[in-house]
Amino acid sequence: MTSYVMGIDFGSTTAKVVILDEDGNTVAACVSQKGAVSDEGVKDALRGAFGQAGIDLSDVVRVVSTGYGRRMLDIADRTITEITCHARGAIALVPEARLVIDIGGQDSKVIALDRNGLVARFAMNDRCAAGTGKFLEVLARAVNVELEDMGAEALKATETVAITSMCATFAETEVISLLAEGRPKQVILAGVHQSIASRTVGLVGRVGKRDPIVMTGGVAQNIAAVHFLEKALETKLIIPPGAQIAGALGAALFALDDLRSASKVKRDDDDAVEGKLQQLLVDPKRCTPACGSKETPVTFKA
Ligand code: ADP
Repeated sequence: MTSYVMGIDFGSTTAKVVILDEDGNTVAACVSQKGAVSDEGVKDALRGAFGQAGIDLSDVVRVVSTGYGRRMLDIADRTITEITCHARGAIALVPEARLVIDIGGQDSKVIALDRNGLVARFAMNDRCAAGTGKFLEVLARAVNVELEDMGAEALKATETVAITSMCATFAETEVISLLAEGRPKQVILAGVHQSIASRTVGLVGRVGKRDPIVMTGGVAQNIAAVHFLEKALETKLIIPPGAQIAGALGAALFALDDLRSASKVKRDDDDAVEGKLQQLLVDPKRCTPACGSKETPVTFKA
C-alpha cells in the first residue's frame, strides 16, 4: 500500500495543502481562501487535496505544517518556519534559483540561497501591509477592480502616478483623492504596483541581489506586480507553475525526508534554526501609523 506525506501552509490569507506519494510525486496541490488564518480554509484545502489524491487522512503517514498559523494544526507532526519551507519549495520548483522573492497576503520575504540551495540570508517585512498582497487587496477594493483583474488593468496604463503613502490605510485615502481628481483607474493601479515593487526592491537590497530570481506566493499571479518588479530589478523573474504552493511543497518535502529517514519522532518547532540565520527585519517604526478552493497545476517529483 502506498504511503503519503503532506505539507500544509496555513497562511495569513490562504491555506495550501500539498500531498506527495512515497516516491515524491505530487498527487495533490490545493489552495483555499476562506478568510484570514481560517480554520475553515484549512479544512477546505484538505478536502480538496484528499479529493484530488483519492485518499483520506489515514493514508498520510507524516504531516509538516508551515505558515502564519502553523502551530494551530493538531494533525501536524512537525512545524517548520516559512522561510525554510519556501526556500525548499522554491528550489524544488526551480533548482537553479539563487534568490526567492515571496509576496504573500500579510508579509513579503526575500531569501538568498547558497550554492547548495540552503538559506544564506533573508529579509522579511511582516510588520505592515505595505509591500504585501494585503496592500494590493485594499487598493483593488478602493478602485473597485477585482483582485484577479487589477494586474491586467494596471498594464493598460501608458503612464503611472506616484503613490507616496507607504501605509495601506493612508494609500487608500491617497488613491481615493486621485480618483476624485479624475485620474484613470489604470494609471492609479500602475502606481500601486510600482509602489509594491519599490518596497520589494528595498528588501532585495538588504539581502543582496543574485540571479536567477524566482518569485513565489500569491502575488506572483499578479502580472503587473511581476512586470513592475522586473522593471525595478532590471531582471527577468522566474514564476514557476504552482508559485503559490511553494511553502506547502517545501513542507511536504520535509515530511518526505522524515518518512525516508524513518523518523517517527514527533519533533516540534524548527524556529531555532532560523534564529541562527541573519534576519534583516523591516523596522516597523518607519511605518506610520504602526499597523498593529482551487486546484493548482503543479507536477513535481522529489
Ligand atoms: P499567505 O501565504 O500569506 O496566506 P498567499 O501567498 O496565498 O498568502 O498570497 C495571498 C495574496 O496573493 C493576496 O493577498 C493577493 O494579493 C494575491 N493573490 C491571490 N490570488 C490572486 C490572483 N488570482 N490574482 C492576483 N493576486 C492574487
